[in-house]
Amino acid sequence: MNHEQLKADNAQFLWHPMAHPGAMKKSTPDIIAKGEGCWIWDVDGHKMLDGVGGLWACNLGHSNKPVRDAIVAQMDELPFYNVFRGTTHVRAIELSKRLVQMMQPEDVATVMFSNGGSDAVEGALKVARQYWKLKGQADRFKFISLRQGYHGVHFGGMSVNGNTNFRRAYEPLLPGCFHIDTPWAYHNPYTDDPIRLGEICAELLEREIVFQGPDTVAAFIAEPVQGAGGVIVPPPNYWPLVRQICDKYGVLLIADEVVTGFGRSGELFGTRLWGVNADMWCLAKGISSGYIPLGATAINRRIADVFDADTTGTASVSHGYTYSAHPIAAAAALATLDQIEALDIPGNAARVGAHLQTRLRKLVDTCSFVGDVRGVGLMLGIEMVSDKAQRTPMTRTSDIPARVAKAAYKAGLMVRISGPNLILSPPLVITREEVDFMCDVLEGAFAAVQ
Ligand code: PLP
Repeated sequence: MNHEQLKADNAQFLWHPMAHPGAMKKSTPDIIAKGEGCWIWDVDGHKMLDGVGGLWACNLGHSNKPVRDAIVAQMDELPFYNVFRGTTHVRAIELSKRLVQMMQPEDVATVMFSNGGSDAVEGALKVARQYWKLKGQADRFKFISLRQGYHGVHFGGMSVNGNTNFRRAYEPLLPGCFHIDTPWAYHNPYTDDPIRLGEICAELLEREIVFQGPDTVAAFIAEPVQGAGGVIVPPPNYWPLVRQICDKYGVLLIADEVVTGFGRSGELFGTRLWGVNADMWCLAKGISSGYIPLGATAINRRIADVFDADTTGTASVSHGYTYSAHPIAAAAALATLDQIEALDIPGNAARVGAHLQTRLRKLVDTCSFVGDVRGVGLMLGIEMVSDKAQRTPMTRTSDIPARVAKAAYKAGLMVRISGPNLILSPPLVITREEVDFMCDVLEGAFAAVQ
């Protein structure tokens, strides 16, 4: 392989998501060539621990054999068929049943498949609106979501996204989408008391619902722990209060579990972390360990019953992709779910994640520009600040985050920089020794850049 040619071809032919095409012509992204377990190698043969997990996705590491074998076997048996009205296939049936059984504390009744997280969100938003129309309450079309939230790249998801950078180029977006403050302990104008913060931010939801008119609000959508926004963990009372408020006004609660689902938070689903039930769950990434694109929208009994009982003929759901429930993706997911149970993936994420969080939180005391270290399970964000007392996040003009990432890369750890945050989301099969390696590398990288 001619590496220089690869780099030149990348610059010339490949548009990278979320990146300035012109800038990418001049920069050389890391070209990843191989993966095994929690480790990856770049095209120059440099070995690194994958602190990114592909992109919060490769929860079983890069070489899980049962998932690989399931994909190959499905390829031989039936590489593709659709699940539109007239046909279905064995793996889709098996996977939907398996997920519903797995999500029984949640009272999930049915699952709609798609190709990824953005699709899963779009499906949930559409089902929410259709649900209210079927119930004769067509005025309930509005969505409320959180600032800093991330819900993918389709027009519905972008409209509920809480990050201006992801929205601006595509405005005007969906009408009827409103954003409220996220309960963010490190950056909020309200209080340093986390429980009070949970109450205040829940009150903001209630006030927004009342202000909009409760009979106009379809759903509230949020991540149980915000991922892309900088790993923001809400106070423990927030989600239970949100559930109460949604129930009080009949508003549907959609949990976007694209990152938190399947063990990353230390629980199988992030809503379990808060002891709360949603009405719909958006799932992707870890569902197939990222090996094959797959999204799913899990729908609870309350909603499914309304669709099932419809006699007007308007309950058909116009949210089908050619590749919905793709057999190879479904086979990969079935094997992934087996592995999640066999390897106790949520348990491992909780155990080694606690160790990771404890070790890296010390950076706040030892590094002059680390303002906050936060997370749960195996999702962790390190926020870099230009002024610790004022909690001023580093701006894009600072080269410090990139220098930390580069130092880590050289020392054998791949991390992700998002704004002022260094984000860690390693495979959930990671061992305590590998976590120690990550922490050693990061302590060294932050010390080197100080
Ligand atoms: N929702 C959340 C919470 C996400 O973090 C993401 C992606 O990171 C998405 C939705 C979109 O998923 P995808 O990139 O698979 O479309």
